[in-house]
Amino acid sequence: MLFQDLNLNPAIIKAIEDQKYKKPTPIQEKAIPSVLSGKDLLGCAQTGTGKTAAFAIPILQKLSKDSSNNKIRALILAPTRELATQISESFKTYGQHLDVQTGVVFGGVTPKRHIKVLKREPSILVATPGRLLDLVEKGYADLSSVEFFVLDEADSMLDLGMKEDVKNIISKLPKVRQNMLFSATMPKEVSKLVNSILINPVKIEVESKSLNENGIRQQVYFVEEPDKTSLLLQLLKDKTFESVLVFARTKKKADKISKAINIANIRSKAIHGDKNQSERQKALELFKNKEARVLVATDVAARGIDIDKLSHVVNMDIPNVPEVYIHRIGRTGRAGMGGTAISFCSNQETTFLKDIEKLQGKSIEVVKSHP
Ligand code: ADP
Ligand code: MG
Repeated sequence: MLFQDLNLNPAIIKAIEDQKYKKPTPIQEKAIPSVLSGKDLLGCAQTGTGKTAAFAIPILQKLSKDSSNNKIRALILAPTRELATQISESFKTYGQHLDVQTGVVFGGVTPKRHIKVLKREPSILVATPGRLLDLVEKGYADLSSVEFFVLDEADSMLDLGMKEDVKNIISKLPKVRQNMLFSATMPKEVSKLVNSILINPVKIEVESKSLNENGIRQQVYFVEEPDKTSLLLQLLKDKTFESVLVFARTKKKADKISKAINIANIRSKAIHGDKNQSERQKALELFKNKEARVLVATDVAARGIDIDKLSHVVNMDIPNVPEVYIHRIGRTGRAGMGGTAISFCSNQETTFLKDIEKLQGKSIEVVKSHP
């Protein structure tokens, strides 16, 4: 199937062509017609499957049909400021030849800037829950005309303790609206949310199993905690490690690792929740422009970030929740390109490794020859 077969506005087709997308991804192929036909949607898929366009394109199509109203007509909630920014950029990209405004609001910057954003009366608003609620309660944002509601990365939103804010926001939306919910995993809490928000949704599932066909090579190195950083430095000597995202368990560790890499004369930046918004954006930019070879991140800071052409993901530790591992390695090999995910496993972490292998239904290649 081609995008041309989906009955889309030629202005949207043109924007997709500008992006050089050849054809819709499987989730887009199913989601776009369902959303266009007015149905609620439940998308369960790992990162890198093209979920953003799966909801952004049909929403833009519907809004483009009548752009008369200057209220917020589409609301997209995302767990982090980076992700919210990224989604709003996608709406702007796919909607660049349309007359539809997109705004974005998130915590960590002065509300003044957001009040200005809202004064421009965007019909599409992308937001993190806390800040949006704040703006609604102060009377700056009006949600009474929302027709399309999207909850992206619902599982991480709940992990981050945003449940009450999300529920509160939903209670302020019109009862009749079209809903879309995306989540990489389906824990009980998310299913409950699904049942309370979605009405007869079309369910689209792209299984974690598809990782195998994704061209991501997975490797594990057995190494004890104190030696992990020197092993990383050793690996980074290899120039094929072009663009490396390193995951650290804590903010402190992320800073420490990034510092050690810089001392070894390799440009590296760290991103985590203690860094302010402009520091985080700047680090991300440097990494995207290939000015920094390494980005060290905590899970929360890296959620949903989309970076093209990531050659390697390195896990300094083995996550105790297997789904977190899946999230992490999904950062490489995006949109069908090859990539390598390397994990450092200490003696204490072997049970976590087993859980991951069980979830994927296959064992991970062990690299034995290393210092
Ligand atoms: P997800 O939300 O599932 O993690 P994204 O929406 O962030 O995925 O998309 C991942 C990457 O794939 C982005 O760089 C996006 O530009 C690219 N992409 C999306 N749709 C297509 C497509 N149909 N063809 C090629 N690349 C695509
Ligand atoms: Mg996404």
